[in-house]
This record gives sequence, C-alpha cells and structure tokens, in this order.
Amino acid sequence: MTRLTELYDEIRTCTRCVLAQGRTRAVPGEGPETADVMFIGEAPGFHEDKSGRPFVGAAGRFLEDLLGGIGLRREDVYIANVIKCRPPGNRSPTPTEIEACRPYLDQQIELIQPRIVITLGRFSMERYFPGARISSIHGIPKKIDGVLYYPMYHPAAALHQPSLHQDVVDDMKKIPELLEQIEQIEESNRPEDAEQLSLF
Ligand code: URA
Repeated sequence: MTRLTELYDEIRTCTRCVLAQGRTRAVPGEGPETADVMFIGEAPGFHEDKSGRPFVGAAGRFLEDLLGGIGLRREDVYIANVIKCRPPGNRSPTPTEIEACRPYLDQQIELIQPRIVITLGRFSMERYFPGARISSIHGIPKKIDGVLYYPMYHPAAALHQPSLHQDVVDDMKKIPELLEQIEQIEESNRPEDAEQLSLF
C-alpha cells in the first residue's frame, strides 16, 4: 500500500460533506503515481459515480481524443477532480463541499509531484487562480508554490459550446512544448527561469 492508495481508501469512505449520502462510489482519481501531467476536472458525473473512475463519459472521451492529439494516452496522465463525489443532478459543487474535499487534492498533488497541473474548467481554475476569468487566462501557465498550473476550458464546455472547441484544442497543443521547456529548465538547474515559462 502506498500513501496514495491509502488516500484512495480514505476518500472512498469519506463522510466530510453531504455528498457522501448520495454517492454510489467516490471517485478518488487515477493514473501513474509518477505522472508528469495531472488534470483536475470538476466533479464526478453519472457515469463516474457508477464506475468510481474519473472522466469516463462524453467529456472523458473528448479528453482522450485531445490527449491522443499530443501523443499521450489516458494511462500516461493522472486524472482527478476538485470534488470526489457526485453532486445530485450534477449541480455545481458548493464552497463547503469544495473546502471539505480540498485536503485530498492537495495531498494528491504533493504525492504525485507532477511537472504540470492542468485545471479543466472554472471550479478547478478557481482554486489556484481565485477571481480570474477563464476567458482571460486559459492557456497561460503560472508557477504557484513550486507547481506549474495551466488553466484550460473544461472539455464538457467545449462539447456544448462549439466556440470554445478550438481554444481547447489549441491550449492542449501547447502542452508538449511546455513540458519540454520545463525539462530544459530542470536540466539547466536554474529554477528561477520557470518564472519566465511562456508560450507565444
Ligand atoms: N467527469 C469527471 O470526472 N469530471 C468532470 O469534471 C467531468 C466529467
């Protein structure tokens, strides 16, 4: 048992908020413990609640397509959510629920230590870029407390609003180059360069 799998057990039996009462299964997240790339979505939906796995519905299929476009498979990346249990009727999570679930995601990031954390959608962005507008900051990486965050629109939003589709595709395409820049910075042993991480 690793610390991450211990954390999964804790999440699966969590009763910190009311969402525990309505869930079929909690959805801790999945992916390699050594993943370089971590995605953070919003909350489990119908299919995720039934299966206990993140992003297995239509948004998940689109995410897999997007990953394929940059030569990655779902199994290569870590996928989690801000909220680990499905809100009834897929309503937005409340601030209390987000706060109750916060330590789980913090620990996941700490244990996995990804090179880049990609936030998908408003709720996940809000945790790291409070008060920001996703239309202004999507596709712009920022280092916070030693972790590089990269906000993107949620794939489900792009499925419902065709005008966002190209933004999501374009933002995803920047990820390989960002990873390359991060690697170069690590090799150069000049972490201060990370402040200048920029693409276009
Ligand atoms: N599935 C998830 O696991 N999270 C989302 O944010 C959307 C769909």
